[in-house]
Order: sequence, then C-alpha cells, then structure tokens
Amino acid sequence: MGVPEILEVEMYRRAAELVVGRRARSFQTNDVIVVKDGLQIQSLVGSRVHEVSRLGKLMTIHFDDGSIDLHFGMAGRIIVDGRSPIDELVYGASSNDRWIRFSIEFEDGFLAITDPRRFSRVGMFQNANALGPDALGTDLLKRVRPRLPVRGTIKGVLLNQYVVAGLGNMLVDEILSRSAIDPRRDISTLSAPSIRKVFQEIEAVLPELLKRGGSHMGDLAAELRVPGSRCPYDGHELSRGTIAGRTTYWCPRHQK
Ligand SMILES: [Zn+2]
Repeated sequence: MGVPEILEVEMYRRAAELVVGRRARSFQTNDVIVVKDGLQIQSLVGSRVHEVSRLGKLMTIHFDDGSIDLHFGMAGRIIVDGRSPIDELVYGASSNDRWIRFSIEFEDGFLAITDPRRFSRVGMFQNANALGPDALGTDLLKRVRPRLPVRGTIKGVLLNQYVVAGLGNMLVDEILSRSAIDPRRDISTLSAPSIRKVFQEIEAVLPELLKRGGSHMGDLAAELRVPGSRCPYDGHELSRGTIAGRTTYWCPRHQK
C-alpha cells in the first residue's frame, strides 16, 4: 500500500462511519507533530459523533460540539475497533501500537491513526472550504472549471488540491495515461475536447479503482512504477521524470 489518495480515504471514511452515534470518552493527543489542537480536541470529551465526511483527502469527524479534521499524509492508516479497512490486519488495544499517533476512545471501541512516518495531521483546521470540488463527484469539469488555471502542466493542475480535491501522484499518472495526454503538457495547449476527456477519465477511473481496492490497482499499477518497465497498453518503455515535483511515469508512444 502506498500513499493514501482519495480512494483510500473514502475507504477510511466508510470504516469510520461505524463510530457515528458514539460518545467520545477520551482522546489520545500527545503526539505534538501529528496533533495540532490537542487542548481544543480534549474539549470534545463527552460529545457525540453525528457524521463522518470527506472532501478530497481530508476526512472530518463531526461531533455535536465541534469537528476534527484528519489528513493521512504519506502513510497514515485508520483503525476502527481494531480493524484496518485496507491492511487486513487486526490491531489490539490502541495503547499497544507504537505507531498510533492519535486515537479516540468511545464507550465501546476506538478509532485511531497509525503512521510510522508522522506526516499525518489531526486538528480542528476547518480549512475544507478552500479545497476544490471533490474528485469523486459527478459533473466534475463543470464544478472545477472556475478554478482551472490558465497555465501550468496538466499534471501540476490535477495535483493542486485547490483546483480539484483528492487526486495524488499515482491517480494523476493513471488518468493521464488513459487520457493519452503527456503529463508535461501545459494546460494552455490542451484543446477543450482534451480537457473534457481528462475529466471524463477521472469520473470513470475513480469508481473503478475504488471497486478494485484502491489507487494502486490502476493499469499503470504500482509494480510498473520502476525504471525500465513497459506501457500496459502498447509495450513501449515508460518514461520517468520529475513533473510538478513528483516522480512521474508516462508512455511517450501513446501520451501526446
Ligand atoms: Zn503506451
């Protein structure tokens, strides 16, 4: 499992829905790198969860008296009542796991974040309003269009969470491969049909990979992201480079 992207966070959200209706008995907030508003979070003891929402890669647990935002960074996982929705591992009580960075204990059960790398962030940021529309929605291009920049590589545009929320490195490479568009192309050089095609692919790919089990299950799968590997569609050797600051794989034969 790689970096949690929108599909993984959606799986986390579905798992976290188990705690809707429960009251928080205590919060473990002592990891000061991961947890930003420990004292404020402690004020939610006794409060009841009424909803768990997601926007892009940001998950929010809404309590009756406030809400907590969870961002899973590069390697964060969620555990609900001892189970992880993606790792198939069963965890014991939260205090036994040294990678637990934050947890909520309820009258029955608990919700925790494990993260060996500590890039996860937990806080009461309430910054979801600034993010672009969620990539898992319909009519995406219509909702994203007012935020599309005039210039910038198409890869960088799709990675920008303020343009469209939720896409990460692997999903963007998958989407551009299926759209047959070179990730280095500047958005100003793409025709209207090409841009439509990209957003149609987003709407098609995300539900498909969610069913397959996550963002690493694309045609341009995780195991192809090594030097010397070949395009799954035409067998041409994949190119590798850094675009928008991220290691990118693309096929120079069919992506133009
Ligand atoms: Zn190809």
